[in-house]
Amino acid sequence: MNAVALPPQVPLSAEDGRYLRMAIDMSRVARARGNRPFGAVIVSATGQVLAAVANSNGETGDCTAHAEVNAIRVVSPHHSREALATATLYSSAEPCVMCAGAIFWSHIGRVVFGIDAQRLRVFRGERPEQRDAELSCRDVFAASPHPIECVGPALIDEASEPHQGFWRR
Ligand SMILES: [Zn+2]
Repeated sequence: MNAVALPPQVPLSAEDGRYLRMAIDMSRVARARGNRPFGAVIVSATGQVLAAVANSNGETGDCTAHAEVNAIRVVSPHHSREALATATLYSSAEPCVMCAGAIFWSHIGRVVFGIDAQRLRVFRGERPEQRDAELSCRDVFAASPHPIECVGPALIDEASEPHQGFWRR
């Protein structure tokens, strides 16, 4: 690991913690099905779970089948941008640049994530096919004309657990 300071863990409300744990549960489901261990949940302003999905890279062979994109594909056809602007997307890990772009297009107004990209890179290692593009989702959100609140990293130990022993170096 390099010498750059890791982002500090942020505290969550009980409600946010419950939904982020649901996303972490989906990351375990993803791994059990032969996919990369990521999960995402989208919750409406009134607390309705609109989607709870897993990454499906391994099952589908689709390199874009990240949990956040899969979740947005579930909800986007059925909910207006105005409704999604008040929704929250919970992700077991910090969204990648593609998922940050999908969150932008969905108009989802709030993101809560578990393990951050820097800590995840320690698990990913240096294999080229496992490395991510090093552009923070916060930089993508900062470029958005509509506000996208971003909360994380949170529940780092719990969010890290499904990555233990998964990424081969
Ligand atoms: Zn992604």
